[in-house]
Order: sequence, then structure tokens, then C-alpha cells
Amino acid sequence: MLDFDTCNAARLRRDPAYDGRFFTAVRTTRIYCRPVCPVKQPLTRNVSYFPSAAAAERAGYRPCLRCRPETAPFSAAWNGTRTTVSRALRLIEDGALDAGTVPELADRLGVGTRHLSRLFACHVGASPVQVARTVRIQRAKRLLAESELPMTEIALRSGFGSLRRFNAAFSELYGRPPSSLRTARR
Ligand SMILES: [Zn+2]
Repeated sequence: MLDFDTCNAARLRRDPAYDGRFFTAVRTTRIYCRPVCPVKQPLTRNVSYFPSAAAAERAGYRPCLRCRPETAPFSAAWNGTRTTVSRALRLIEDGALDAGTVPELADRLGVGTRHLSRLFACHVGASPVQVARTVRIQRAKRLLAESELPMTEIALRSGFGSLRRFNAAFSELYGRPPSSLRTARR
């Protein structure tokens, strides 16, 4: 990821060379933009920078309707590595890291483990393991909301492997056990 000053200078001059290399998130509007956005420049103290549209969205920002950052054009090299990352994300979605390891995933994609971690840091702003955990938690939240399955069953179907790990992941993220989400719904 580029440093703040580089991004900020590129944003202030709306430099097209930086299009796709970072995204500007505006705290006051909760919107994120491309560096070339034609909209009036936000104050520097209100912006932060993200390496990908996905990272900005995960942090709670919505895409700008003027510059459409979610469809920004990117370099060929970026697209090549993005393909690897998209394939990795699909495999993770399908459970590749629920039982398997990151080196095994990297192997299936034909890249080294460290390279894969770098690609994730650059394009996603999170590690493969963090993404896998988010995917499991999303699956679990869906099952908690839409089914009456027992907790153990939800833990296993979401890919947690055990009820203990399921509870630990929820406690870490929400500070309370998964069962409380279901109780809250009632
Ligand atoms: Zn914009």
C-alpha cells in the first residue's frame, strides 16, 4: 500500500496514473472515491486511503456515484494478480481454508504462500485466514437468522470444525456468544 502523503498528493492533483492504485475514503460522508473523482475535494483531515474497493467497503464505505470506484480500470499486471486473488476468494468461499491450510491454497493457485499473502494485503487488505474467518462468520450468521438448527450443527455447517472455535470466533468479534444473536432476534 502507498503511504498517506503519496496518496494525498495524487488525490489533490487528481492524478490518473494512480487510478486503481488506491481509494479515498471520506469519513464525513462515508463514501469512497477514485483519485480522479471530479467531485469537490474533501479536507485532508477527513480522508483515509485503502488499497482496494473491497477494503473500503469492508470498512463501511459506499462507492461514489460520480467516479464509480467499484468499476475502476486497472493495469494489466493488476488484473493478472487480481485473477489469482479472485480465484483464491472463490476457493475460500467454497471452504478451502475451513479444513485446509494457506500453503495448500497457494499450491492450488500455483503461487508461493508469501506471494499469496502479499497479493491479499495489496488487493483485499486482509489475510486469507482473516477472509476465511469472515466467510465462516457470515455463513453462521445466515444460519442463525434463517434456521432453528442447534449450535453444534451451525458451527460445523459454517466450517468452524468445532463448537469451541465457533464460540471463540464470535466472542472475539462481537464480545458475546453466537446464541445471543439468535436470542436477540426473538
Ligand atoms: Zn467519487
